Amino acid sequence: MNIHEYQAKALLRSYGAPVSDGRPVLKAEDAKTAAGELDGPLWVVKSQIHAGGRGKGKFVEPEAGEKGGVRLAFSVEEAAEMAKQMLGKTLVTHQTGPAGKQVNRIYIEDGSDIERELYLALLIDRQTSRVSFVCSTEGGMDIEEVAASTPEKILSFSVDPATGYQPYHGRRIAFALGLSGTQVKECVKLMGILYKAFIEKDMEMLEINPLIVLEGSGSLKLLDAKVGFDGNAIYRQPDIAELRDTTEEDPKELEASKFDLNYIALDGEIGCMVNGAGLAMATMDIIKLYGAEPANFLDVGGGATKEKVTEAFKIITSDPNVKGILVNIFGGIMRCDVIAEGVIAAVKEVGLKVPLVVRLEGTNVEKGKEIINNSGLDVIAADNLSDGAEKIVKAVKG
Ligand code: GDP
Ligand code: MG
Repeated sequence: MNIHEYQAKALLRSYGAPVSDGRPVLKAEDAKTAAGELDGPLWVVKSQIHAGGRGKGKFVEPEAGEKGGVRLAFSVEEAAEMAKQMLGKTLVTHQTGPAGKQVNRIYIEDGSDIERELYLALLIDRQTSRVSFVCSTEGGMDIEEVAASTPEKILSFSVDPATGYQPYHGRRIAFALGLSGTQVKECVKLMGILYKAFIEKDMEMLEINPLIVLEGSGSLKLLDAKVGFDGNAIYRQPDIAELRDTTEEDPKELEASKFDLNYIALDGEIGCMVNGAGLAMATMDIIKLYGAEPANFLDVGGGATKEKVTEAFKIITSDPNVKGILVNIFGGIMRCDVIAEGVIAAVKEVGLKVPLVVRLEGTNVEKGKEIINNSGLDVIAADNLSDGAEKIVKAVKG
């Protein structure tokens, strides 16, 4: 689960991390009051969406202006005007996909004078099963780009959970970032704060890009914050669960989560309904092999009911990108007749406007096939996985 930058900053501030004063704005008419509560003389007006690269992003609507999703203002009026321009508009960044994301919230922050922009992240390193620090002197940029072109500029190491965070971890980061004097002490303290927050709040990722050195004082400050939490631990983080902004989530994925379906929206044209994550992956692979792209990952699970299958089918057909559907079920615990009944029920409810290929195998397969054959639906039957993939790709691509 992800949260907005302003929420992440409020959380980290509560742990004692240095962040600027700021005000979230949800309605354009509140922007001026919000900006007026900050000192100036510089204001930063920031689009709040669950995606990075906002500064270099572009708005779809011309009324939002030429500048990106993070803008500098030099008066309260200018800050309010910028907030108004961006609210409700669609911002496209390299992380949003071409469709972009609607900006429903703005964060107006006291502007900082920057001497240097650094990169810092904490994340779960799945290879070592530990929390890792990643840092670089090349902050404010696309870190993937830095990793690809100058990997020597990135330092990463993991923390032994038996000892937890130790001051020497912080010193290692401070020296890698070229900090000196009192900055080292500050860095050691800050890294301890971030590590504590990371562990206590079950974070999955905490990215500060940029972490800045302030002009003049040389102090450190978090200028941006991107935080993700482990979805499986949210039940024990009720205060974090409250920060969830469902408007940032794919409505299809949201609907699927209500029915406990493992669904991830993708941008291909073939909708897949499969049981078992492994088979779902194999199905996606084989669709690609035959020259098309899957529109989703969907594992209906082992013990899916007819209602669950119906909902899954409805979610797939609600995606306008779906030009064909492949149902690929290997009945083990799951029975083929249940799947067949679910598919029929869903088609009766929402109709079928695209070709549908069904491959059933395993428990109650004959009963399942019978239900489909007697339904009068225009279903293309397939005998095995590759036959199914070939038929649906052919039906879609001709
Ligand atoms: P992102 O583009 O989504 O990563 O958004 P950021 O919060 O990282 O902001 C993008 C860039 O805007 C930063 O790398 C800074 O260069 C600039 N920026 C953000 N806040 C300030 C600020 O307070 N003062 C100045 N001078 N620049 C800022
Ligand atoms: Mg950033």
